[in-house]
Amino acid sequence: MRYISTRGAAPELDFEEALLAGLARDGGLYLPTLWPKLSEAEIAAFAGRPYEEVAAAVAARFTGDAFSETELLELARASYADFRHPSRAPLIEIAPNFFVLELHRGPTLAFKDFAMRFVARLFEAVLTRRGQRATIVGATSGDTGSAAIDAFQGLSAVDVFILYPDGRVSDFQRRQMTTPTGENVHALAIEGSFDDCQAAVKAMFNDFAFRDRMKLAAVNSINWARVLAQTVYYFTAAVSLGAPARKVSFSVPTGNFGDIFAGWAAKQMGLPIERLLIATNENDILHRCMATGRYEVSGVKQTTSPSMDIQVSSNFERALFEAFGRDPAPVVALMDELKGGAFDLPEQARAALANDFDSARASEAEVAATIKRVWDEAAYLLDPHTAVGVHAATVVARDSATPIVALACAHPAKFGAAVQAASGQVPEVPGHLADLLRRAERFTQLPNELSVIQSHIEQSARPV
Ligand SMILES: *Cc1c(COP(=O)(O)O)cnc(C)c1O
Repeated sequence: MRYISTRGAAPELDFEEALLAGLARDGGLYLPTLWPKLSEAEIAAFAGRPYEEVAAAVAARFTGDAFSETELLELARASYADFRHPSRAPLIEIAPNFFVLELHRGPTLAFKDFAMRFVARLFEAVLTRRGQRATIVGATSGDTGSAAIDAFQGLSAVDVFILYPDGRVSDFQRRQMTTPTGENVHALAIEGSFDDCQAAVKAMFNDFAFRDRMKLAAVNSINWARVLAQTVYYFTAAVSLGAPARKVSFSVPTGNFGDIFAGWAAKQMGLPIERLLIATNENDILHRCMATGRYEVSGVKQTTSPSMDIQVSSNFERALFEAFGRDPAPVVALMDELKGGAFDLPEQARAALANDFDSARASEAEVAATIKRVWDEAAYLLDPHTAVGVHAATVVARDSATPIVALACAHPAKFGAAVQAASGQVPEVPGHLADLLRRAERFTQLPNELSVIQSHIEQSARPV
């Protein structure tokens, strides 16, 4: 399997290279040259199989010669062994034909564990056999950083440095980053905002001497392997609801468009998905774009679903590339236009997106009301991100005979204050994190100065 860039000007890569590259050199995102197809019989055979076996079978379609299915199965088993549910991603029916897919049974209580843990093991395997090492640098406002630190801790080929804005992440999120004890993972508290952290990371990648010396790598949501790992739960969920004989729809709380694009990829592979519902919070650039055709950046609003508080949705570029029939030229043109703050989607591309996607937005009041309503009606606690998706699924017109699955992206305990304010209920913290607030923390405070951050990383990383 080969990989091409959405902007058409970067070299074609194989799976290993696309994994290690992350972003393409032309600024684009990698996609497989063609979508592998699974037959109905192959999809039907997933019924009742362990999650890890489905993961290996799906991933094998994308990894080319890099891994055998047996190797992928071992990596998947190592990735998901610590999950707190035997099916890994259990489905709960909260109303007739209305399901919640719990993706928060991993160590850090958010769906990012699914992809990050698998990607960590892919990195380790590829680098080990190449005799190489890498330094992962990332900025976080919460979930991505904790998932990366947890996923990579203790691995021998990779050091991880996560920059977060000092004093501006929740105690719970900070402690998830600062309490892991692996020597190869580092939480850096930067005196500044999330944007400062992100700018510093970008500057490090643009410092080519540093980048090459440290073998910098990125595991943000544009990394193709993360999207790949997320296609798996669309298969397991749909099959357990009767696919391929029966169609299923999904409502996906959306920020960077990685998770929902994984659903779209599963559909290309043959999974009968009826509709994919883009659910946004008040940061609704994607919903506005679907409704009006204009993709226009405005200021970021802080909401109770902070992992979706973003403006430019990086993986949307993949959907645009597909909507233009895989022609990179209009993608390049729109991305260029976006530097001015907005673009207008041509009608044909808008119609192509509307073939697969619906969209809806949840206000903060609607998020709180949804948490309360579902608690009152079903005695089930939603986190605010999940509530965005559940709200969207209740307001968008759909065929009531088709089951709808709302992705539960985070555990309510991770956003306990917002959940309590909405429902009056205090979500119980899962046992493995019950003592989180008493564990010793380990982090380094650094000024928002690139040279200081770089020399700290250089001194702390194991030699590459
Ligand atoms: C990352 C995240 C999202 C957004 O997912 P994207 O792939 O960026 O669209 C939604 N909810 C939670 C809890 C997250 O951590």
